[in-house]
Amino acid sequence: MNTRLLHDTQEDLSIAAELIRHGELVAFPTETVYGLGADARKEKAVRAIFAAKGRPADNPLIVHIAGLDMLGMIAAEVPPLALTLAGHFWPGALTMIFPKRPEIPSVTSGGLDTVGIRMPSHPAARALISLSGCPIAAPSANRSGLPSPTTAKHVMDDMNGRIAAVLDGGQCEGGVESTVICFDDTQTIHILRPGLISQEDLAPYAGRVYVDHAVFEQIAPETKVASPGMKYKHYSPKAKILPVDAPDFDAFVRYVRQHWKEHTYCLLFDSDPEPDGIPCLHYGDSGIRQAHDLFFRFRELDELGAALVYVRMPSQSGAGLSVYNRLMRAAGFEVIRL
Ligand code: AMP
Ligand code: MG
Repeated sequence: MNTRLLHDTQEDLSIAAELIRHGELVAFPTETVYGLGADARKEKAVRAIFAAKGRPADNPLIVHIAGLDMLGMIAAEVPPLALTLAGHFWPGALTMIFPKRPEIPSVTSGGLDTVGIRMPSHPAARALISLSGCPIAAPSANRSGLPSPTTAKHVMDDMNGRIAAVLDGGQCEGGVESTVICFDDTQTIHILRPGLISQEDLAPYAGRVYVDHAVFEQIAPETKVASPGMKYKHYSPKAKILPVDAPDFDAFVRYVRQHWKEHTYCLLFDSDPEPDGIPCLHYGDSGIRQAHDLFFRFRELDELGAALVYVRMPSQSGAGLSVYNRLMRAAGFEVIRL
């Protein structure tokens, strides 16, 4: 298959929408990462997403909508708390889990009777959904296990020849995937996957907001978890990623010098100085900046031929938790603690 590279123009958006209507796969930019989209109601098209990514069939997809009118087509029930959150955070990087209507095939929801729904804010994503008139099921547009793509080039690197088209909208602003939440009861928000919309951001709207334990620890593949995606090894480049929890920069550098081998790199904060003789890349100082850079740097490190990468440990607060979680998953939860 020849994968077409489309651009963010009216004409190309119409072509992309036409492809979606015909059951084809189109990768498109969102404010988080690039998504690999198909009509969420078409079983065959959704199966093709799983095949193109090599994604396990029990890992559910998020359904993207352009307006609240589409919510009723997909969700069987919408609790008042969800409508309040939609009012504050949609369009944006928040995915909410609802009981699923039968029109959404079970392949889309990984066999679950619930479905994750999000209204993205990226203009190209919104235009694609509106022009096609379809709710669009879209996981991240990477091959399963690899870092999520934040540019059209990343998508092409993984998907060229496997999908109908990639819509190039430049580099994604957010850089990590959406925050995924479900509701334990009318007043409790359960964060299944942290994103840039943080626990602190959600707190004013609910009685209680808590983070699932799978965010902090490795889950055995046979375990039943609230969010199936959290049990798979994820986000990892070819290089081995090793976060180093050091009391300060000097201790970090001392450790790296003692253990340095060929093809070893460091991933440092922007404000860290460049240590002599150690190849380094930087990934921001704040959680938001680190989220923007992390997957981009992972792919860069692969292009540089890195075999081992020591990474400065991000904070776990606010947006930092999403960075911490992706980094720990990439590392298989192995950490050097000094
Ligand atoms: P991706 O689209 O690759 O970012 O993955 C979407 C993730 O959202 C999945 O891996 C799940 O962890 C989560 N998710 C989607 N739908 C559901 C659902 N119905 N229940 C729980 N988690 C979900
Ligand atoms: Mg993904």
